[in-house]
Amino acid sequence: MNATECEHFKQLLLSELRRHAQHIDEDQMQALEVANDDAKESSDLALRDVIQELALKLGDRESQMVADIDQALMRMSEGSYGICIRCNQPIDQRRLEAMPTARYDAACQATIEAMKGQTAGPSL
Ligand SMILES: [Zn+2]
Repeated sequence: MNATECEHFKQLLLSELRRHAQHIDEDQMQALEVANDDAKESSDLALRDVIQELALKLGDRESQMVADIDQALMRMSEGSYGICIRCNQPIDQRRLEAMPTARYDAACQATIEAMKGQTAGPSL
């Protein structure tokens, strides 16, 4: 994934974040904008601080979404974003477009869900 693609998915993640964080106050929204506007490497830390503070204010479900976004941004800063954490293959970018927090490629996701299905339900 090149820098332009990375930036594109970062923007996707940040817009997801805004969508899940509609209940935060003006100050925090502003901090988010500032952290996002500042393109310098050092801004990543500030952005993550804001996100973590945000997660504390949200309900369980929303804070889980925010945590997923936070982890995706962390993987992005480590350079492992868009790589399946199970098989280390690149995740299809169309999949990332639909689900920018995806940790698995389609094949591994299907395998994991099939395994869940086997343990949860009766075997056929
Ligand atoms: Zn995989």
